[in-house]
Amino acid sequence: MLKLTCPWRTSRRAALAWALDQRDWIDAQLARAEPGEPFAPGATIPVEGREVHIAWSDEWPRTPLLVDGELRCGGPPEGLPRRIESFLKRHARDTMSRDIAEFAAAAQVTPRSVTIGDAATRWGSCSSQGRIRMSWRLILASAEVRRYVAAHEVAHLVHLNHGPEFKALEARLFGAGVADAKAALRRIGPRLRRIGRG
Ligand SMILES: [Zn+2]
Repeated sequence: MLKLTCPWRTSRRAALAWALDQRDWIDAQLARAEPGEPFAPGATIPVEGREVHIAWSDEWPRTPLLVDGELRCGGPPEGLPRRIESFLKRHARDTMSRDIAEFAAAAQVTPRSVTIGDAATRWGSCSSQGRIRMSWRLILASAEVRRYVAAHEVAHLVHLNHGPEFKALEARLFGAGVADAKAALRRIGPRLRRIGRG
């Protein structure tokens, strides 16, 4: 539950509009209040939108490997969460660099840099200098959701606002279904934020 406290005589509509504007931040705070889904043998996590089972054996290599819906991990068990996170970040960097390169070519622009991070509240961002940042957690989501954020940020390389021209370019890059992808991200976002947290 979320309790919104506002000063006396604030219009209810203005207060709700403000809260909607802060939705990503609010979602992030709510996600922090819930128990995490740590990386551990036997746990299931989504990778590219498909549920993947985490398995450990001392016969497997230290570097995790995705085989037949299973994330196979070897090496010392105590370092397992860190190695899984590194694996996912690497996978995120490779995949999202390709997504962004593809959309940037279609928009005939070049980002100054593409960084994969773990921002607490934003799935992606684009600075006025053309630096795109993406959350590694998007690799957990389906390709549709991940590519929607990539198309959105590439469209910001051309328009630093959410005006009609921006929306037209976003739709041209991503194709039909922007609203569906956005809604899907809102739905799964809280879980994506819990994954890998102890
Ligand atoms: Zn935006």
